[in-house]
Amino acid sequence: MNCTACTAPLDAPAQLCDGCAHGLDARLSELPAQYLLLATHLRPGAGRSDGPVALVREAPLPVRADVLDMRAAGGMVTTLESWRDAMQEARGWGRPARTGSVERRVLAAARGLKMNLDWIAAEFPGAGDMAREIRHLAGQVRALLDPAPPTLGVGTCAADLGQGDICDAPLRVPAGSATVRCRRCGTEYPPSSWLTLATGAWAPAGAAA
Ligand SMILES: [Zn+2]
Ligand SMILES: [Zn+2]
Repeated sequence: MNCTACTAPLDAPAQLCDGCAHGLDARLSELPAQYLLLATHLRPGAGRSDGPVALVREAPLPVRADVLDMRAAGGMVTTLESWRDAMQEARGWGRPARTGSVERRVLAAARGLKMNLDWIAAEFPGAGDMAREIRHLAGQVRALLDPAPPTLGVGTCAADLGQGDICDAPLRVPAGSATVRCRRCGTEYPPSSWLTLATGAWAPAGAAA
């Protein structure tokens, strides 16, 4: 017999190996707190203190749709409640009530699953799918909570605005982007040019000699 989540061989008949059961237990403990924490990550740049953020604060920052989706119906609460429903049904129990705020429902669903973890790991036929799905969910949440990597400075804009007037605006690589675009003049710099920019050795085309 094998673990239905990771397929590791099991010594005794069960649905989950010890490792997968422990991992599921830990995730069910952490998810309610992470749900609350997501509220502080609704706006891009929240929690970051590096300088470049000030540069883009000209307009109100939009809400992060990915964080909003995770916190709304259909996100974390739905994954947890669906599995709690399935577990209760498999045990021949009624469907648990869903009352209160989404925060309370997340907590209730996670707690309901955690209290039945021994039975889930031993007998719940859906245990493997549940462990994998909640591991995936926890991974998504962790990615949302990770602060965005800081932007990287790559020197100043070398664009010639005309008659040898070099733009010279500071250039930064935005997090998760592969293109640097000068915020002043709009000139774009591909990654292959960043090292040259950073070392100040940039020579605009035609500007040699
Ligand atoms: Zn396993
Ligand atoms: Zn420029």
